[in-house]
Amino acid sequence: MSSENILEVRNLTKHFKAGRDQIVHAVDGVSFSLKRGTTLGLVGESGCGKSTCARTIIRMYDPTDGSILLDGTDITAMKQKQLKPYRKKMQMIFQDPYASLNARMTVRDIIAEPLLAHGVVKNRAEANEIVYPILDRVGLTKEHANRYAHEFSGGQRQRVGIARALVLHPELVICDEPISALDVSIQAQVINLLKDFQEEKNLSYLFIAHDLSMVRYVSDHVGVMYLGHLVEMSEADEIYKNPLHPYTRGLLGSIPAADPKLARRKEKSGIEGDIPSPIHPPSGCRFHTRCPYAKPECAQREPERKEVGGGHMVACHLY
Ligand code: SF4
Repeated sequence: MSSENILEVRNLTKHFKAGRDQIVHAVDGVSFSLKRGTTLGLVGESGCGKSTCARTIIRMYDPTDGSILLDGTDITAMKQKQLKPYRKKMQMIFQDPYASLNARMTVRDIIAEPLLAHGVVKNRAEANEIVYPILDRVGLTKEHANRYAHEFSGGQRQRVGIARALVLHPELVICDEPISALDVSIQAQVINLLKDFQEEKNLSYLFIAHDLSMVRYVSDHVGVMYLGHLVEMSEADEIYKNPLHPYTRGLLGSIPAADPKLARRKEKSGIEGDIPSPIHPPSGCRFHTRCPYAKPECAQREPERKEVGGGHMVACHLY
């Protein structure tokens, strides 16, 4: 029987070795659940750990600690061979489809590859029966099948990336900044395509983005990450109406506004300074070096995650 949550992540931690004695604290104790058929937007500046979190969930990296449950099955410590049937259930769409699509393969072969690898089809002729309809479904044609990635525009390449990710009928799709590299005019088309697929196939998305405006129209829930920690999480509407964590407020302040007066006000509420190194993260609350509300306690004690009602979670000593 399928579980209600397609994904449960508990205390997920991923550290990397850097040099002889240094450790990069990329992801530190992140926990959340993703309900089947919904989208969780995971947001933060570059270097906050969101992409590492995604890549650890999909097991491109081995977790340092914590657990990952996919449809109720613990996949945290599975070896590659054991993982194979679960790989079909979770796929990834990358930010830069040009880098993620093999330049020497035709689009047909790129999309057919996972079908052959997972034994869904035995040969190219059988694969074509699946490749052509999915190309059509993402807005490309049979004629596109024999071309190479460099012959396409950015938007078309991302359509190929989506076709490749969805051809195995996954249940969970991790979208790692899938629209960040695209022209604004193309972004909405790609988002609409993803939303259509979600409705049709009851897909669940973990949608990674570097600003809150990008996930606003796709997310049911939003989580905000800062330097490896999940600092706030709630239903999407709530986080835009009632942001609590000073970092979330800062991120919202950095969304460009159409109204110049509002833009000036927002600029003032933006976040100052750069994100500190994850090799030596600040003590206590990791945001204390940039937070306008920091008090002495903030540098000494890490704030606990608190539920403040209606499933709204925040980790800050102000609450
Ligand atoms: Fe700012 Fe302190 Fe809250 Fe951290 S815990 S966000 S430093 S007020």
